[in-house]
Amino acid sequence: MELVVIGSVAYDSLETPAGVREKVLGGSACYFSISASFFDPPGLVAVIGEDFDDSCIRILEKHEVDLSGLEKTKGKTFHWKGKYEDLNEAITLRTDLNVLETFDPKVPKEYSEATSVFLANIDPELQTRVLEQIEAPQLVACDTMNFWITTKRPELMKTLSKVNILLINDAEAMQLSEQDNVFKAGEWILKQGPHTVVIKRGEFGSLLMQKNDIFIFPAYPLTQVKDPTGAGDAFAGGFVGYLHATGDHSFENMKTAVALGTVMASFTVEDFSVDRITKTAYAEVENRYKKLIEYTNLKPVNLATLKRAAKLS
Ligand code: AMP
Repeated sequence: MELVVIGSVAYDSLETPAGVREKVLGGSACYFSISASFFDPPGLVAVIGEDFDDSCIRILEKHEVDLSGLEKTKGKTFHWKGKYEDLNEAITLRTDLNVLETFDPKVPKEYSEATSVFLANIDPELQTRVLEQIEAPQLVACDTMNFWITTKRPELMKTLSKVNILLINDAEAMQLSEQDNVFKAGEWILKQGPHTVVIKRGEFGSLLMQKNDIFIFPAYPLTQVKDPTGAGDAFAGGFVGYLHATGDHSFENMKTAVALGTVMASFTVEDFSVDRITKTAYAEVENRYKKLIEYTNLKPVNLATLKRAAKLS
């Protein structure tokens, strides 16, 4: 297996302005895997409980996700309950760790030679334990959230010191760095280990930063967002999936990866759970990518030729 992800596979209970859903398929690793499968299906390291339905397994199988690292154990599947009053901010109402509480991830032997690893949102101790079982990854990316920043900061900082790329949303970047500005938060993160940080800003797009480079990108323009859950993980699936599939980790190629992350996130939020992304055709991905090229195509102009330039220069 060349691309490996560890994260949560969950039952989510969701409340958004578009409606309510009880115990639908979710979890950071689940969204990531389905999204990344458009570029290269990953191997999944995760745990589920006895209550996990076979129909959900079939969804992952349909996307050719390798499930040899998916452990089924006694107890209930991880459950997250959240609501959105403002679609840019998830409010956690409940986090039932259930089988995640005692999960000791064992990376299957065939995953240990993975070239790319995504440490999706999960307990940072588990992220580190999985990373230690991969021999020589060339690309290590990671995500996290407020829950872990609050409850496991030292463990999270240890994970961070070992990753190349951190993908994180704006509020969490500011919480983690204790800065009041996203750019300052990005600079702070770049001093903790990662050489690249991607800060996701919901409907306002995203920001890609390295020590001497910066790229800003909008969100895909949508008129209907039903459920933002999983947007970040689907973004990561497009971003990491594309970098992995091309093997090109240059800043230029990361710009394309940001656009593809944006495209994958745009499908996810159009319906609850994985309902829309699982129905997405490859041609739709290509189409939205082309549209984004059109929408963002800024050309250089020579401002010195304007009459006013002579006076002001
Ligand atoms: P996102 O909207 O991309 O940030 O991720 C949403 C997913 O993260 C949901 O499907 C949840 O099941 C999952 N999730 C929520 N809280 C946690 C947590 N503390 N640890 C791991 N996964 C979580």
